[in-house]
Amino acid sequence: MNPRFSIIRQLADGRFHSGEELAESCGITRAAIWKQIKKIQELLDMEIFSVRGKGYRLTQPLELLDRDKILSTMTSESQTRLHKLEIHQSIESTNACLLDQMSSDRTSGQACLAEQQTAGRGRRGRQWVSPFGSNIYLSLLWEFTLGPAQLSGLSLAAGLSIVRSLETVGISEIGLKWPNDVYWRERKLAGLLLEVTGESDGPSSVVLGIGINTGMTASQGESIDQPWVSLREITGGNNISRNRLTGLVLSNLLQAMHEFEQDGLQPLLNEWQRYDLYHNCPVTLHYGKRSINGVHRGIDATGALLLDHDGEIEPFHGGEVSLRPTA
Ligand code: ATP
Repeated sequence: MNPRFSIIRQLADGRFHSGEELAESCGITRAAIWKQIKKIQELLDMEIFSVRGKGYRLTQPLELLDRDKILSTMTSESQTRLHKLEIHQSIESTNACLLDQMSSDRTSGQACLAEQQTAGRGRRGRQWVSPFGSNIYLSLLWEFTLGPAQLSGLSLAAGLSIVRSLETVGISEIGLKWPNDVYWRERKLAGLLLEVTGESDGPSSVVLGIGINTGMTASQGESIDQPWVSLREITGGNNISRNRLTGLVLSNLLQAMHEFEQDGLQPLLNEWQRYDLYHNCPVTLHYGKRSINGVHRGIDATGALLLDHDGEIEPFHGGEVSLRPTA
């Protein structure tokens, strides 16, 4: 293992570790440990105390991803749907990783997790800020017999899986912004990115990527250009287990994928609407260089947003559309 990650692994308990102890376990000199600590501070934006005579300590303990803990939270049914679970220390993007692997294996139920993404993706080329060890970055590959057009409601179903998981760990006041962003009191807590390839009549391969902010610090999230929040802030520092939440999300998503293939979005419409942040509110839909104003009248069974404008109700599909409340 790269000495940087091996040092973080040892410091994750939030206790002091001497330079000597770290040097011995990593098989490098104390001077090299000091250099690596500097790199961790600079490159990963992690806060580390160093105290003469005591050693190094993380300001916040980290709960690193742990395969067994994740699996132990999943239902046995969802475990059987999980074909593969990869956990990376640092990767460009968990979605990109699964998209690459698709050329050799398209089996449903492949999941990819990372402690850090160096090129985390949002929609339409936007960036998902993904610092080390403090959030959840999870992607899942699923092969559908349906064609891409029939999957337009899937990202809404996936959004509900995140909401259910968050509620299970005790988070309330969660809202969904169509098509697939998860908010807490109008601050973005989680995002979803669906990448679909396939034949028009099916099959289609879907890579679904999810980012949930668990413990991102203000300085790590400094570049985010909209209000955001982390679970640590919501709970006032009361740590929610990253592994438990990851297991719950994975479990709920695997079930959602399976159910969506059979029933689509229809059975979830009422539940989705309960969390819809802007239902019956004036909204602006932006697509390409254009935008349109109207009142958001809910969603239909294909996941389209029903916009009330100029005396008619017109459905809009999510792919290239961004919704904003009208100022
Ligand atoms: P929409 O989906 O309506 O187009 P969006 O602007 O939120 O909205 P997304 O592609 O869903 O776009 O997400 C990317 C955006 O999310 C970034 O441009 C940034 O504003 C924000 N963002 C990036 N990283 C994070 C993060 N870790 N937590 C919260 N928000 C983030």
